[in-house]
Amino acid sequence: MSEATRVLLDESRIPRNWYNILADLPAPPPPPLHPGTRQPVGPDDLAPLFPAELIGQEVCTDRFVPIPDGVRDVYRLWRPTPLIRARRLERSLGTPARIYYKYEGGSPSGSHKPNTAVPQAYYNAREGVRRLTTETGAGQWGSSLAFACAQYGLECEVWMVRASYDQKPHRRSLMRVYGATVHASPSPETVSGSKILAEDPDSPGSLGIAISEAVEVAAAAADTRYALGSVLNHVLLHQTVIGEEAIEQLAAFGEVPDLIVGCTGGGSNFAGLVFPFLREKLAGRMDPVIRAVEPEACPSLTRGVYAYDFGDAAGLTPLLKMHTLGHGFVPDPIHAGGLRYHGMSPLISHLYELGLFEAVAKGQTECFEAGLRFARTEGIVPAPEPTHALAETVAEALRCRETGEPKVILTALCGHGHFDLNAYDRHLAGEMEDFALPQERIDTALEELPVT
Ligand SMILES: *Cc1c(COP(=O)(O)O)cnc(C)c1O
Repeated sequence: MSEATRVLLDESRIPRNWYNILADLPAPPPPPLHPGTRQPVGPDDLAPLFPAELIGQEVCTDRFVPIPDGVRDVYRLWRPTPLIRARRLERSLGTPARIYYKYEGGSPSGSHKPNTAVPQAYYNAREGVRRLTTETGAGQWGSSLAFACAQYGLECEVWMVRASYDQKPHRRSLMRVYGATVHASPSPETVSGSKILAEDPDSPGSLGIAISEAVEVAAAAADTRYALGSVLNHVLLHQTVIGEEAIEQLAAFGEVPDLIVGCTGGGSNFAGLVFPFLREKLAGRMDPVIRAVEPEACPSLTRGVYAYDFGDAAGLTPLLKMHTLGHGFVPDPIHAGGLRYHGMSPLISHLYELGLFEAVAKGQTECFEAGLRFARTEGIVPAPEPTHALAETVAEALRCRETGEPKVILTALCGHGHFDLNAYDRHLAGEMEDFALPQERIDTALEELPVT
């Protein structure tokens, strides 16, 4: 193995293609269904929401999809991202494991999300769209899309979950700095928002509600489309630049991974790192164990069911076959806002059903503990979401200390936590809570699954 800490950072190493795992699966995932007819959705059903190029990518089966020059040119601002050997973390754990992390926090908005926000804005602009709408939870997706829209001269309108709008004023500011308009969701501007406000004027909102609002506005305006930051096939496709770079970089270190760990909200950063490695695994060229980590407060893979459900709270989106806790499920207010989604990407859910990876759930106190250890050794303050992957990385490294196994662990550090220092303050003050999730709450939400 190489003594280097970082390798292959020249911009000529930015991948020229995204990797499409649909080309390498024994069977495709079940199709999305129209919420009215319950028939598979066609391109015409999606045209009010997405540009033709992205609708095509949703069902594309080509193994490699070329990255347009107009997208690579913006990727150059922060890609390739570093793959870093976490020597100081290893030392603090006294582990024989070798830990590598792929760091996506150096992007303009501080997470992996611009990897897809940029091509989404690019294709919309090329097809003559004037404005994009979207939702955001903690604000990472909203700020990424706002940045991407500014690159291509698009207007950007964001519905931000009320709880975060109030608790994370700086993410809100960042979106405005990039030129976006930001609404607290539920908002009085939409029918779906008004309906919820009528029932509960103090509603803290949820990602599902905010999606309903953004979709409603895009569907009603001819010059406006909608952008989603996770879950869909084209989003996962764009994120594979992470794994493609990591494969080359890990090889330059002279390493082959034994374990790959990532956190899952809708599944996009996990897919982005893991899919290219899964291609290698399916082809028999390596055999890493792959493990997803989700919050105990929102455990769609480990405690949800695999069923058709809506992507939003109001039932406006197509029905997606996915691991879900029910579209009406509102998770407890953990600090990892990006992991508080009731469902999971249909493609990730399908791979989970095929047994291609494992999943575990963690409470947030253990995760913040790992986040602190990481900050104090490696220096980067991780976002609350990837602390889930770090907690599992730490647990595995400690198991290696017991067994003496020198495992090679690769983890996705998908964002920094500079906007989450309130949460770290709460943890340091001993005020962080773990929420037990009673089975009745899941059962109640699942009673409302749509009939197909
Ligand atoms: C949005 C976000 C997530 C969750 O989304 P995925 O699609 O599961 O990646 C995780 N981490 C960070 C830093 C995020 O911004």
